[in-house]
Amino acid sequence: MNCEEAVKLMDGYLDGELDPITSQTIEQHLLECPKCDQAYKIHGSLIRAIGNASPYYEAPAELRERIQSSLRDEIAKLPTRSISREPQPLFPRRQPRPRAILWEASWNWLALAAAIIFAAVIAFTLVPRLQRPGADQFLATQLIASHVRSLMADHLTDVASSDQHTVKPWLDTKLDFAAPVPDLSGDGFPLVGGRLDYLDNHSAAALVYQRRKHFINLFIWPPTSGDSTAQTMVEREGYHLVHWSDGDFTYWAVSDVNPGDLQNFKQLFEQQAARH
Ligand SMILES: [Zn+2]
Repeated sequence: MNCEEAVKLMDGYLDGELDPITSQTIEQHLLECPKCDQAYKIHGSLIRAIGNASPYYEAPAELRERIQSSLRDEIAKLPTRSISREPQPLFPRRQPRPRAILWEASWNWLALAAAIIFAAVIAFTLVPRLQRPGADQFLATQLIASHVRSLMADHLTDVASSDQHTVKPWLDTKLDFAAPVPDLSGDGFPLVGGRLDYLDNHSAAALVYQRRKHFINLFIWPPTSGDSTAQTMVEREGYHLVHWSDGDFTYWAVSDVNPGDLQNFKQLFEQQAARH
């Protein structure tokens, strides 16, 4: 198994969805490949972090009161005998009919009430879990993995230059979009170079800026239908991620610089990019 195959199968492996032989092959690869092992560990701890942070919504007291009061109303409408406390036969005999029918009717009604309550509980607990921004979380994992890889594998840049006029044309010829490459050296964020990357099934430009001894990977691609437009700042595994978009491009900056510096970088980049 090579790294590409391992990365492809990693989600299935983390979710325990692979057959034993494939799982074993991945395990073997992780033992032999520090790069994939690192990605696996980051991804695994992200999944745990997301799992722990997933929101749990309690049904509001008002809803509980509404269900209880409609239950009381419906019970009040039932014939009194149907809710008698007399022990009921488990398998009512065919004769005599009347009690069996009433018992059945009230049982059906209780089953319906239970279904309504069940649906309400599902609506208030499960739905927000399903709506959590899973796509963004997964993307964040990929972005951090790419950032870590670029620093670990000695592959920070494809074109190493502090000159925007070298980096930009190089990227423009390799990509089918023209990403802005502003010069932020005057603001303490010198350009280091650029790199091609592949994220979330599309090509991306990765610009590398420096802040003192830290590197910032800025990933840029034209907006896709799956991109969220909300600005976000998240922290994962000691890395900070800032996301924004300007209509022309989606941006994700990843770094281990402090959040203030990263936010500052984002603002400077936006100002400079808007000028061009
Ligand atoms: Zn590998």
